[in-house]
Amino acid sequence: GQLPDSGDVKTAIDETYEQFSSVDDGEVPDYIPALADADPDLFGICIVSTEGQSYSRGDAELLFTIQSISKAFVFALVREEVGHTKARKMVGVNNTGLPFDSVMAIELNGGRTMNPLVNAGALATSALAPGETWEEKWDFISRGLSAFAGRDLEIDEDAFESERKNNIRNQGIARLLQSYGHITLDPHEVTELYTRQCALLVSTEDLAVMGATLADGGRNPKTGEQVIGQGASRDALAVMAANGLYEASGEWLYEIGMPAKSGVSGGLVTIAPGKGGFASYSPRLDDAGNSVRGIKAARHLSNELGMNLFASG
Ligand code: GLU
Repeated sequence: GQLPDSGDVKTAIDETYEQFSSVDDGEVPDYIPALADADPDLFGICIVSTEGQSYSRGDAELLFTIQSISKAFVFALVREEVGHTKARKMVGVNNTGLPFDSVMAIELNGGRTMNPLVNAGALATSALAPGETWEEKWDFISRGLSAFAGRDLEIDEDAFESERKNNIRNQGIARLLQSYGHITLDPHEVTELYTRQCALLVSTEDLAVMGATLADGGRNPKTGEQVIGQGASRDALAVMAANGLYEASGEWLYEIGMPAKSGVSGGLVTIAPGKGGFASYSPRLDDAGNSVRGIKAARHLSNELGMNLFASG
């Protein structure tokens, strides 16, 4: 099925924006200096259909660093290259039930508890990007994420610099991955690659286009480009459904019933397969690290527009 008529979609977006723009629960994270400065009251929402219709409200054009949301799309790109079975074997797909930066994802069950949306699996995924060198892999990742967004994405160099000075823990995870033979590229270079992908600047509108691309089996509704195939899109969505909202992924699926991915900068992208992508930006996060307004907005829209995948009617 499709999304409801455009008038109904517009009304639902307006309602969602007005209903949740005054919610001020949650905290702006301070562990990355560049994020701590974000204005907590910013709020943008956008929906893009697989036909390319788009409605947004609020600060939907404002740029912020993509952070963890990059993980889902880099996995989709790498999955397209390495195939269904190898992606599952090399990175894993099971929910860890652990914080996103836990080393236990690597230690438990010989690494079979990793998945592409926690740091251990995300570092392993970025390392699998085609290319011999750091630069070639970066080129693949930045071009691929730009193809998802339908425009050339740029780096927030200040955010990148501030994070690479503070990413001791991610460097440790990369070293542990190396010790188990999960990565062959130098662990420092793998960490740089991952940290750089997290510092790409996107808007809420970009995220909605990226989501709509996955919703349409890898075809970008804005550019018409087939970015990845249907199989890789389906696999990326499966991983997002199981792992997209940190330790709250089960609760998210129970409430909203769609694949999604959140990030520490306050972005959230939700996919209604076959219908479109919905994105939001609001920097105040809950204890699990998910945008408070983002979750409320997605739940409201999921109900209003009949997008829950588990609902029979
Ligand atoms: N670059 C961040 C990190 O690895 C991403 C965190 C996130 O969005 O969850 O610490």
